[in-house]
This record gives sequence, C-alpha cells and structure tokens, in this order.
Amino acid sequence: MKTIGLIGGMSWESTTTYYQVINQTIAKSLGGLHSAKTILYSVDFQEIESCQANNEWHKSAEILIDAAKRVELAGADFIVICTNTMHKVADQIQKAINIPIIHIADVTAKHLLAQNIKSVALLGTKYTMEQDFYKSKLFDKNLNVLIPEAQDRNIINQIIYDELCKGIIKPDSKQAYLNIVDKLVKNGAEGVILGCTEIGLLISQSDRNTPFFDTALIHAQEAALLAIS
Ligand code: GLU
Repeated sequence: MKTIGLIGGMSWESTTTYYQVINQTIAKSLGGLHSAKTILYSVDFQEIESCQANNEWHKSAEILIDAAKRVELAGADFIVICTNTMHKVADQIQKAINIPIIHIADVTAKHLLAQNIKSVALLGTKYTMEQDFYKSKLFDKNLNVLIPEAQDRNIINQIIYDELCKGIIKPDSKQAYLNIVDKLVKNGAEGVILGCTEIGLLISQSDRNTPFFDTALIHAQEAALLAIS
C-alpha cells in the first residue's frame, strides 16, 4: 500500500472528512482491519486565510511548499491538498517536490465526464468561483461551467469562512445554498460541484436529485484507491 500525504487544516473541519473517507474506502476495498497509511501536515488556517485576504498567494505557497517537503521527507508517495482554493498554488508546490500532487479539479472532472455531464455549476470560495486556476481545468475537458451571480457568490463565500470552516451548520444557510443550487439548475446545470471541501458538511446528495460532485469525497476516495492500485 502506498502512503498518502495529506496537507490539511484548510479547514480542519474538512480534513476530518478526508481522514474518514480515506480510511472507509481502504477498509471497504481491502476488508479485515485494513486502514490507510497516511502522513498529515495540518496548517494553521488563520495564516493561510490571511494570505488569501491580503492577496499574498506567494506567501501561502511558501507555507504549503514547506509542508509538502516535510510530508515528502516523511515518506509519502503522493500528495493530496485538502482544499480546492489552495490549488491556486498547486503548480508552485509541485515544482518544489518530487512526488505527484493529485489535483482535486482533475479527479472531479474525471467523475463529471464519467456521468456524461457537460454543463456544471461550481460552488466554492470566491477565489475558486471567480478566478481561472480551477475552472481552466474543467474548460480543458470541454465542460461548461456556471457560477452563481455576484450576490450569491458573496453568500456562498461568507458562509464558507464564517460558518463552515468553524464547524457552524445553520438551517438558514443550508436553505440559502439550496436556493442558489436551484437557480443554477434552472439555468442549465446538469450537475453541481461542491467545490469547497466544507460544503458537504452543509448540503448533500440527499437534498436534491441533480447529481452533486462533492470534491472532498471524490478527492479522498481517489487518493485511497490510488494508494492500493
Ligand atoms: N476548504 C475550502 C476549499 O476547498 C476553503 C478553505 C480554503 O480557502 O482553503 O476551497
């Protein structure tokens, strides 16, 4: 079994999801008492969020490069960065290490294509929804990406940082998310990417019939399967 290197803590609320799903996938695949070999470096998310808010992506890249090097040195075979947003600096991290990064947008795109989705809604932080670093991976696969309108993007983003990253789950916020999902589906989305690793804490497939692509679940499952492939 390969050793999975996790860079987590962004936020730790979703890193717990990764740890659970990775181990559940290994246990289900191998049976018995099998569990995942993992090395986790969990950052202080306040430091990362400050870099984001101050547009200091280079500084955040340095923090994550340091983490990735430590995880590599500790014996990981590949790296999983447990957040969509920080894939903005994935290329920089990849250049600094010798083991591969399993890109969250690549594995998500693979799942979208497997379900024959052509037009997909993307929910995530404002960085993920508005900037190109994430969407370009989807465009590369000829996927049409719908993002919420400006006011809705603010709602989604604010709930991520003020609530979900702190483990706060509110029924009103869930309804707000679902209203936005409904609008995007009405506008032609055949599927919805939960493109922030905490969104699955608030809404899930059982809330709607439209296929949801929960990036934390997909990323964690793919990492586990890669570890035993
Ligand atoms: N976990 C979130 C994501 O998947 C947001 C936290 C962050 O900014 O890294 O994008």
